[in-house]
Amino acid sequence: MTTTTRLATKPASGWRTSAACQGVDLETLFSDKPGTQDRVASICRGCPVRLTCLDDALRYEGDSYMRWGVVGGLTTIQRRALRCEALLGNRPNLAQARQLASPVWASRMMPLRQRGLSPQEMAVEVRKHDVIVSAVTVRLAVWWAGGKGGIVPRRQPGDSRHTWELVRDECRDIVLRLRGLGVGNRDLAAYLLVSEDALGRAVTAWRKAEGVQEVAAA
Ligand code: SF4
Repeated sequence: MTTTTRLATKPASGWRTSAACQGVDLETLFSDKPGTQDRVASICRGCPVRLTCLDDALRYEGDSYMRWGVVGGLTTIQRRALRCEALLGNRPNLAQARQLASPVWASRMMPLRQRGLSPQEMAVEVRKHDVIVSAVTVRLAVWWAGGKGGIVPRRQPGDSRHTWELVRDECRDIVLRLRGLGVGNRDLAAYLLVSEDALGRAVTAWRKAEGVQEVAAA
């Protein structure tokens, strides 16, 4: 159920009458607490109109929709990441994501998640099953299935770098690109799925190393 829908005083109509979150109190639906958002997202996992709910939000709600609760099965952080993906020209195929997040695909997708593959790497694996899919679609499917879907390259065996060091070493180009598109630190951290502290430490390291005056503003 979208923010707009929740604020409406008239009874739900159309696809909203099938929303699994009907009856959930507004304080829970609008919560900005990660634990509460995770609980609502788990309700969305069984919602028959999840695709329509997210599609509706992406079509008709502006940036404000990112501030509140869970929409279409995505937490605030995930929607911020999806906005960054859109700025990069990456838009998920919602129907494909629903298919990949389904129980039918669970046995194929779960091992890939357990191996810590990135959405890009998972997309390559999925194509071996004759399904052409984009990385952002895989990322959405992972979120819908309850996974993290981070994009910072995973550590190889013997790699003892901290997360901020991985960001520093592996993510500078994409951070600068998004920063050039006007993305702030909070959304950058959401896109990478790291803490703002980790992002900030990486930015500080870049500044020190290259004398950059302002890579990412607070
Ligand atoms: S997907 Fe989630 S937020 Fe949207 S209608 Fe269903 S239960 Fe509600």
